Amino acid sequence: VDKIVDLIRKKVPLEEWPSEYFLVEDNIRRKDALLDNGLAPGDALRALKSPQEMVDTIKASGLRGRGGAGFSTGQKWEFCRAAVGTGANAAHYVVCNADEGEPGTFKDRVLLNSYADLVFEGMTVAGYVIGAKKGLVYLRGEYRFLLDKLNAVLEARRAAKLLGQSILGQTGFDFDIEIHLGAGAYVCGEETALLESLEGKRGVPRKRPPFPVSSGYLGQPTAVNNVETLASAALIAAKGAAWYKAIGTAKSSGTKILSISGDCQRPGIYEYPYGVTVAQVLADCGARDTQACQIAGASGLCVAPGEFGRKIAFEDIPTGGSFMVFDNSRDMFQVARNFVHFFVDESCGFCTPCRVGTTLLKNVMDKISDGHGGEYDINDAWRIIRTLKTASHCGLGQTAGNCVADTLQKFRPSYELRLNVRDFEPAFDLDSALS
Ligand code: NAD
Repeated sequence: VDKIVDLIRKKVPLEEWPSEYFLVEDNIRRKDALLDNGLAPGDALRALKSPQEMVDTIKASGLRGRGGAGFSTGQKWEFCRAAVGTGANAAHYVVCNADEGEPGTFKDRVLLNSYADLVFEGMTVAGYVIGAKKGLVYLRGEYRFLLDKLNAVLEARRAAKLLGQSILGQTGFDFDIEIHLGAGAYVCGEETALLESLEGKRGVPRKRPPFPVSSGYLGQPTAVNNVETLASAALIAAKGAAWYKAIGTAKSSGTKILSISGDCQRPGIYEYPYGVTVAQVLADCGARDTQACQIAGASGLCVAPGEFGRKIAFEDIPTGGSFMVFDNSRDMFQVARNFVHFFVDESCGFCTPCRVGTTLLKNVMDKISDGHGGEYDINDAWRIIRTLKTASHCGLGQTAGNCVADTLQKFRPSYELRLNVRDFEPAFDLDSALS
């Protein structure tokens, strides 16, 4: 502690701190197929069939993107494989999105810390399928302390012929991986902002389409996948589509890793087959007197007790992996206000609806917090949320008002306490405001 205090006093930048000063305790509470996989490095690569057969395998497994949006991984790889690179430097790329920035999400950190081989193996499988020779990991700046360890795993894989030229002695199977560090911007988790940043530019989201599968890194076909998606793909390559498809629900196959934090006795990492109920997760993590769970991060869904029977699955509550528990002692208005402050800090400032909208929403929440709010402010909040949702350039702005909309609907007393009116009726119908 003394040494750390000394570094702080001397204002030594975080990136210059020795990596052993960063405590990385994985705290894995529940393992399932992915975290309890029994694979050795290279097992997935030794099981590879032709690229088209691998596309079919990944499609048949039902694997969907674990960053939160749930796009079919097999389809993404198929599109990317079919896309044609342009210019003299035509090439395909695999990008691993390790810019895990959603508040309350820390499952990719655990995968990278303890299962890096599986993640790199998934990238190599992706490279083989789409025809890429290069993979790039975009590592969250705050995860810099993992860099040396990850580079050591890459070196070991090169030495074992699992990366580099002629992988496993197979002529023409060349693939290598580089790690790039982010610089702490939440928006760079958005795949096209991430690509801009990888190219050395400011992290501003691009317009889509074109999607990265046809025009991604350096304008070339690029498969951008989340860390957990890639680790799952390696597992499927080794163990087969049918095995994977049998886990989870009909529309959400496999397992989901949840990062559980907040008011519970056993916070940490839990891996569940898709379809687990919120109530089950709460019971397992030792949550008591829970009044809300914020699922899928600050931009996600605030779930109230009446909804605890709902399921973690793409067909019900999809999530990138954040599960924050709030017990009865918490003030849900302040939780939402805190999230709004986060979005003001993290808006990239490129588009007006998000840059101005998040600040206006913050001002309304601060005014209500100070006891000066009235019915007008609630209606104002609706208007701002609608503008954010419908006019923002990317998902950051589009979802920045979710926390206010959700808590206003489900925890109205926490707002009413502070308002100079009771029983207010918002002038906007929420569904039409948010649809
Ligand atoms: P999206 O649905 O627009 O896209 C999902 C993926 O599918 C992308 O890779 C996209 O390129 C691809 N895609 C979609 N349509 C396609 C098409 N027609 N052709 C080819 N590819 C296509 O979602 P998004 O805006 O990329 O991400 C939003 C999600 O990110 C939300 O679910 C949110 O919860 C999540 N999120 C995650 C974190 C985290 O830390 N993991 C942080 C913030 C947000």
